[in-house]
Amino acid sequence: MFEHVDHYPGDPILSLLEKFGHDTRPNKVNLSIGLYYDENGKIPVLKSVQAAAKIVQEKAEPHTYLPMEGLAAYREAVQHLLFGRDSAALRDNRVATIQSVGGSGALRVAADFIKTYLPDSAVWISDPSWDNHHALFTAARIQVHTYPYYDAVTNNINFGGMLETLNTLPAKSIVLMQPCCHNPTGLDLNHAQWKEVIGVLQQRNLIPFLDIAYQGFGDGIEEDAWVVRAMADAGLTMVVTNSFSKNFSLYGERCGGLSFVCPSAKEAALVLGQLKAGVRRIYSSPPLFGSKLVATVLHDADLRQQWDREVAAMRDRIKTMREKLRNSLTAHAPSVDGSYLVNQRGMFSYTGFTAAEVDSLREDSAIYLIRSGRLCIPGLNNQNVESVAQAMAETLKKR
Ligand code: PLP
Repeated sequence: MFEHVDHYPGDPILSLLEKFGHDTRPNKVNLSIGLYYDENGKIPVLKSVQAAAKIVQEKAEPHTYLPMEGLAAYREAVQHLLFGRDSAALRDNRVATIQSVGGSGALRVAADFIKTYLPDSAVWISDPSWDNHHALFTAARIQVHTYPYYDAVTNNINFGGMLETLNTLPAKSIVLMQPCCHNPTGLDLNHAQWKEVIGVLQQRNLIPFLDIAYQGFGDGIEEDAWVVRAMADAGLTMVVTNSFSKNFSLYGERCGGLSFVCPSAKEAALVLGQLKAGVRRIYSSPPLFGSKLVATVLHDADLRQQWDREVAAMRDRIKTMREKLRNSLTAHAPSVDGSYLVNQRGMFSYTGFTAAEVDSLREDSAIYLIRSGRLCIPGLNNQNVESVAQAMAETLKKR
């Protein structure tokens, strides 16, 4: 019956993680998967989340179903975090937001909606982008194209190429962009560049799709939402997907959100109805526990402050590791320009290592990057940063 089923080779990043688990070398370093690790190499349980869990546990509420659109307090918290409390779009009831099964679930529900209601629109993603972007839209039978983003020669953004492509897109094309801490390159547009992009989106009647999975890991929680707010204030009709996997360290609880900013309250109500219908058809309603944790933290003034501080500590540790890696790398290989390490932001750094160099770092030095050359900074700590820098310098010297 199932002999014809195609073999699934597995996800390359998850397979690498498995390989890392089996590696018996004591000095092994995992810089592959996009997880935030603390200085001790552990995935943190945030204190604010622990306190919220206690509150939730003590209430001992029944484990009932959530509505299709999710917990109301959670959805409101998502809206405030993304658009700001004084957002005109929120005041006018023009934003339809649902709680989603992680950021990935938001992307998939959005993709199904786009396929149904904008059937002629293709999605344009950055080259490169998070691998699953391609898969998620293709699974919804949407055409996926790329716009230039990374320039390997300058190890910077090919902004001219990006704008040139956006300027050729047909009206109602969907342009997927990451507001902060771009995965996988760590390269973000500056405000002036975003303003230019907003102009092109408006002129050509394109639909921005903002996927924000690392809010707070760049410049700050509010600062990282700047472009979401700038686009909403510019009156753009847009889609926003967000994830709390990283900034709440709640990976397995699957906490995300999907918001559509619409031209009118009437359209927002219609969109919300169809998002609910879409959810009903796939998983009926989202998970309960994580949404209570996030809503409790974000609605309690003290816990919210504590969370701000915990996110700041994660962000600062990332920045410190970037600096230490740059300093050690340039100490070992003075001719190397390591400035990209401190200029890129968020969890990832695009190192420019070839797949063969990544393989040799793994085989010779037990240092695991993914084959695109993407390095996950939070895998670094004070114990391993020096040896990683040394191995990177040796690899570069062999060029
Ligand atoms: N979008 C981007 C850019 C990501 O990097 C990720 C996760 O790595 C996601 C979305 C998905 O988030 P989640 O793990 O909450 O499904």
